[in-house]
Amino acid sequence: MDTPGNLFVIAAPSGTGKSSLVRALLELDAQLDVSISHTTRAPRGQEQDGREYWFIPEDEFRALIAQNAFFEWAEVHGNLYGTSRTAIEARLREGADVVLEIDWQGALQIKELFPHAVLMFILPPSWPELRQRLTRRGEDSEAVIAKRMANAANEVQQAHRFDFVIINAHFDTALFDLKAVVHAQRLKYAAQRRNRSGVFEALALPPSTV
Ligand code: 5GP
Repeated sequence: MDTPGNLFVIAAPSGTGKSSLVRALLELDAQLDVSISHTTRAPRGQEQDGREYWFIPEDEFRALIAQNAFFEWAEVHGNLYGTSRTAIEARLREGADVVLEIDWQGALQIKELFPHAVLMFILPPSWPELRQRLTRRGEDSEAVIAKRMANAANEVQQAHRFDFVIINAHFDTALFDLKAVVHAQRLKYAAQRRNRSGVFEALALPPSTV
């Protein structure tokens, strides 16, 4: 599907700082929209239905799968998560740039559907640093942290399939890197031709061939 908007997909193991980075990116960039996923997991803390996620029961989720309502869906750490087809298709068609904050399985499904999607993987700078971050946030027991560390060790093995890798050693540097990828994508010939059609028409430049 060729759409006017850019699609950015960001994946990372739990504790890497992905959500904070994406939140900061969205605050800085009014052209970016985030897609709200559906999940079968229960809300945590201050989470609200329709803000962090659409929280739905598993039978409803399975019915949506049967209706082909998801672009991608995956089981992550025992819960189901999915990206609604209608929500992002409409936004991309309107020319919005959409960010998906999803796991690596979903990211690779999206790349199959949208070869132009830009996949970014956020890595922690080291295992001890990741453990420290998971411990510092104080949400999880030692057993859960051990499980998250084991999951992270598997998840980072998928980073080589992504277009870009961002190492979150320092928040500001990682945010700069994220912004750089978004900006570079918008400088591609096809994106420039879409967004600055007046210039391209005045210069009589043809459509992109790449
Ligand atoms: P959490 O439950 O901690 O919010 O998220 C757990 C994992 O599920 C994270 O890696 C998150 O990015 C991922 N996730 C959230 N929404 C989706 C989605 O719609 N599809 C997929 N495949 N993964 C998702």
